[in-house]
Amino acid sequence: MHGKLLTRLSSALKPAPSLSHCKTCLTSTTFQQRYYATEGEVDLVVIGSGPGGYVAAIKAAQLGLKTVCIEKEETLGGTCLNVGCIPSKALLNNSHYFHMAKHDFKNRGIEVSDVKMNLEKFMEAKLSAVKALTGGVALLFRSNKVELVKGHGKITSKNEVTALKPDGSSQKIKTKNIMIATGSEVTPFPGIQIDEEIIVSSTGALKLSKIPERFVVIGAGVIGLELGSVWGRLGAKVTAVEFLNSIGGVGIDAEVAKTFQRILTKQGMQFKLGTKVTGAQKTPSGVVIDVENAKDPSKKEKLEADVLLVSVGRRPYTVNLGLEELGIERDEKGRIPVNNKFQTVIPNIYAIGDCIHGPMLAHKAEDEGIVCVEGILGGPVHIDYNCVPAVIYTHPEVAWVGRAEEDLKRDKIAYKVGKFPFAANSRAKTNNETDGFVKVLADKHSDAILGVHIIGPSAGELIAEAVLGLEYGASAEDVARTCHAHPTCSEALREANMAAYCGRSINFG
Ligand SMILES: Cc1cc2nc3c(=O)[nH]c(=O)nc-3n(C[C@H](O)[C@H](O)[C@H](O)COP(=O)(O)OP(=O)(O)OC[C@H]3O[C@@H](n4cnc5c(N)ncnc54)[C@H](O)[C@@H]3O)c2cc1C
Repeated sequence: MHGKLLTRLSSALKPAPSLSHCKTCLTSTTFQQRYYATEGEVDLVVIGSGPGGYVAAIKAAQLGLKTVCIEKEETLGGTCLNVGCIPSKALLNNSHYFHMAKHDFKNRGIEVSDVKMNLEKFMEAKLSAVKALTGGVALLFRSNKVELVKGHGKITSKNEVTALKPDGSSQKIKTKNIMIATGSEVTPFPGIQIDEEIIVSSTGALKLSKIPERFVVIGAGVIGLELGSVWGRLGAKVTAVEFLNSIGGVGIDAEVAKTFQRILTKQGMQFKLGTKVTGAQKTPSGVVIDVENAKDPSKKEKLEADVLLVSVGRRPYTVNLGLEELGIERDEKGRIPVNNKFQTVIPNIYAIGDCIHGPMLAHKAEDEGIVCVEGILGGPVHIDYNCVPAVIYTHPEVAWVGRAEEDLKRDKIAYKVGKFPFAANSRAKTNNETDGFVKVLADKHSDAILGVHIIGPSAGELIAEAVLGLEYGASAEDVARTCHAHPTCSEALREANMAAYCGRSINFG
């Protein structure tokens, strides 16, 4: 049995407190006795209401901890719900529909004429998704009895957080435990000033008031490619400038990255790889970007754009948190160091999510929030970062989990590869969405799945099966012998596992 599950099981067998790991089904019934709260003092103060903080706060309250969450912004949900995952996915989804209606429907016998973009309504649709979900968090806080305090949270002693409120007043909250879930912010580009109109960060790129004719992106990572896709589908000429020689960011399999670049190029996106941006100046008609060859700086060029998106990553946000006063240092990347229970150097002060190590992803922050709270109550704390999936929500989608082929080569791990193209998958063929493939990497000797990489239709959904397989230590044969519904794209995942397990796939129909 898989080690992680064994750890959980053995710890659950201990008399008390008994913990289930399920996010939704944990109730306070096993925690009826309150262990922590005393008069005027709460059990846990969570600073930040992003996916890490709000999930942790709700979980803590469900487990019987008297919990306060402090949020400095007007709405709950952090980067993810307000200016990240949710608005970007709303724009990606609806720009895909627009693109289909304009360019693809006719091939399917659907005739529509005069397809137009109403940018105002398009943005309204995004805002209503954001509003519904941020409001949903507020509702969940109320129904789970999480007390919300609006204001900037500052840790003023190891058992006290002060909320600095928008009206200038402050509120001191005494607490047994503190969880820092303050997330991240856009990494600035030295010398380039973001105005969120002409030179934008991801936040500005989510709310442009006009479709730019020329849209240049600095950084061909996940966020740059997603937002580049949005504006490209609406008609902008998109150029992505990337210092590295490949696209897709950290962890992407090189073979997938190459195919991905080919597909996006076919869609009209242009790439300048191995290229360094050295500056950008606003002009009356937009912005001029200075670039040079990363290897040969004498090769210089000027690019012109109506809008420039600076998308070179995010950095932890820990401004005015009181860390210096408490002696909590940050590492070279500005992250808060924590141990494997998410404790900082002060044991009752925890940190999770984007402000600590690991991939900056909403689901990673959520999982950390949950296990951290369970750990506060004596439960086991374990996250296998190798089992955290990554998804790029372009069309087609790209998703992966586990090791890339380059990692295995570097670590001298003997592996076998099973690949299956969507061009040979009946559902993908039926839907005329045949770009891409599934690639399974399995241990050469044990057949254990080591990594799964998908580029193709619904890759972000298909990857969940691979994540489960990896978590449970499945072999390629296990997945190959599991019945998959026909006709579905998931059959491509099965076929790739079959190819990894026995060297050939069966169903080419
Ligand atoms: C454009 C974009 C698209 C993205 N798409 C995806 C995606 O598709 N999938 C995915 O998994 N991830 C995506 N991400 C990343 C994801 O948004 C983050 O990984 C995630 O939000 C991190 O969660 P968190 O809880 O750690 O922090 P955050 O979501 O950043 O939340 C931190 C919260 O803390 C608050 N805060 C900070 N300091 C204080 C303080 N002192 N007092 C009170 N409140 C404070 C902030 O206001 C904020 O609300 C995307 C990010 C961007 C920018």
